[in-house]
Amino acid sequence: MNDYPEKPIFVLFSGGDAPGMNAFLRAVVRLGLNRHNVAILGVRDGYRGLVRTARNVSGDPEAIIRLKQQIANTTGRAGLINAQQHIIRMDHASVSGIMGKGGTILGSARCLEFMEPEVRAGVYSLLKQLDACAVIVVGGDGSLSGARCIAEESDIPVIGVPATIDNDLQFTEMSLGVDTAVNTLVWAVDHFIDTARSHRRVMVLETMGRESGDLARMAALASGAEMVITPEPGPLTQAQMESLAARIEGGMTRGRGHAIVLVAEGVKFDPPQTRNRAYVLMDAFQQYFQRPGGPFPDLEVRPSVLGHLQRGGHTTPNDCILAARFAEEALEAIANPAIGNGITALRHNRAEVVPFGADALPDRARFSRAMDRLHEDLSSW
Ligand code: ADP
Repeated sequence: MNDYPEKPIFVLFSGGDAPGMNAFLRAVVRLGLNRHNVAILGVRDGYRGLVRTARNVSGDPEAIIRLKQQIANTTGRAGLINAQQHIIRMDHASVSGIMGKGGTILGSARCLEFMEPEVRAGVYSLLKQLDACAVIVVGGDGSLSGARCIAEESDIPVIGVPATIDNDLQFTEMSLGVDTAVNTLVWAVDHFIDTARSHRRVMVLETMGRESGDLARMAALASGAEMVITPEPGPLTQAQMESLAARIEGGMTRGRGHAIVLVAEGVKFDPPQTRNRAYVLMDAFQQYFQRPGGPFPDLEVRPSVLGHLQRGGHTTPNDCILAARFAEEALEAIANPAIGNGITALRHNRAEVVPFGADALPDRARFSRAMDRLHEDLSSW
């Protein structure tokens, strides 16, 4: 029988998955074992894995002993293939060959129960009984709010790691997954351009990005998409949609053969619309092109919602490198209690740990506006 590890670090992935999560897991496991001599326990399915385990062992000291035995004896890949095991001691082999794979081998989940203070209290008690040295939470805004709860309500050290393709976390220049998602969008635009050009069409493609248009902006800059519509300027009116259509039409009169329009998921309309935004824009553009006397009444507009395609695929080298840098910072912070709880962030291209609730980087908004201007001047005909 193997021993249960001394003061292990728990790592979990929560909320929407993002490319780079597996690269982070590999890095944190390898650095934990090779540099810090600490065991890393992976939690299956984010907070849900902790909540379920806490419920299974609640009030039963024997159950905690059995759980520790299971964690000690069924490790690495053997633990991963046992779907009933929620906490797995990771070893070198269990993270081999996963760096470039999207998603997360530990699973990610949403867990509404974790919003309830008494459920979280059960999780803290579980973590104490399992001698947790610290918890690392990898995820988006919601998951990091959960991590902040752990920091404020318990004495268990916690480090958050930003992972979301939306790039909507304003305290960091980049989150894990953004670079890969931009790459995927450039690939998608390249495919849509072929058909748009052949049929002289306008394609309206919806990207992810609920709060921020940064993903769509970066993809537009990198792919050469002719137009990008983001949520930041506020809801789109009918008159604004007509003026966008007029810009596309103007390009066509000056010799453009097609147009790719990227619209971020967070874009809203005034008055509000229940239909998907790519379809709302398609109708508005089509109506404009077909107005009496318009020069291109036959110009076709086709919508497409790119959806979860943007979350998957091979993780880019930049995301793999960022994952390794964030893993290094997270472990350094845990090893140095003076640094305290917080979230890993990229600021002025340096990886560091900032406190929960850190201010937005002033450069972030400026950078978004600068990207808009740059894109406009690059794509106008
Ligand atoms: P993301 O991390 O991708 O933004 P969600 O917003 O769905 O995804 O959050 C993921 C999970 O984080 C939630 O299902 C919940 O378990 C936890 N969570 C989110 N917000 C809070 C909060 N305010 N307090 C505690 N836990 C939270």
